[in-house]
Amino acid sequence: MIQSIDSGNPNIDQIALTFDDGPHSEHTLNLLAVLNQHGVKATFFLLGENINGHESIVKQIVQEGHLIANHSKSHPDLLKCDDHTVLEQLTYTNTVIENITGKAPAYFRPPYGETDDRVNNLAGSLGLTPIMWSLDTNDWKGLGVDAIEKELMKATPGSIILCHDGVPASNQTIEAVNIAIPKLQQQGLNFVTLSELLVGGGQTEYPSADSPINIPHSSIPPIAQPVPGQKYAVQPEDDLSKIAEKSYGDGNEQSWRKIYEANINIIGSDPSIIKIGMVLDIP
Ligand SMILES: [Zn+2]
Repeated sequence: MIQSIDSGNPNIDQIALTFDDGPHSEHTLNLLAVLNQHGVKATFFLLGENINGHESIVKQIVQEGHLIANHSKSHPDLLKCDDHTVLEQLTYTNTVIENITGKAPAYFRPPYGETDDRVNNLAGSLGLTPIMWSLDTNDWKGLGVDAIEKELMKATPGSIILCHDGVPASNQTIEAVNIAIPKLQQQGLNFVTLSELLVGGGQTEYPSADSPINIPHSSIPPIAQPVPGQKYAVQPEDDLSKIAEKSYGDGNEQSWRKIYEANINIIGSDPSIIKIGMVLDIP
């Protein structure tokens, strides 16, 4: 079972700024300038539908050393979406990001933080680790730079900090981040990307001395793999024969026809045409 991660190691002086809902044509560029100025790396949870037309910003985020992650395509409450829709939401954004950066994301944040075992497992089947947060700045409410800065200053070792660069009030966020970064650095905290923060595995609850559950990084599947009895989202360069081979160890006609027939409503009349992100039942 895939569990979501809320924070990093509370014994290491590292924290991760995360920014949701971008890319945004003004806010994201202003934020990148601020982060650059302080030499700070962060993680951006992008919305697939916001990427169209902002591909150069996505490239710039990567070029400047930040990490890109998946925040779904159009920000639905995934608890209210059926399996196919959840997989389509995540696969769309994975594919768009991979097409631009050459690399599919490893992390996913559920919109509104709404997730459960079903959604987490679907994300896991695409190689995505669900990420929540341990510190919510509530910056999207637009309560002012001071209020956001006050929240940012609550960061402690291992904190995953939730901010937004794709909402109307994000200009306040960027100002607050600009003020808080040097103060937190003075406290000895280092700003890192999520992948750096979670090198040794993350924690599923706020840091507590009791029973932190560590998820070793090696448990994260590197690529989506079709499994009989489960759903599978079509990956680049897949055809039915390849999917059959990955599912059963054999891509012969009998095998791929079995998959075709189970999904004929989705694939349509031509079994040679399957699209990336199409979600198939593997019988
Ligand atoms: Zn969001």
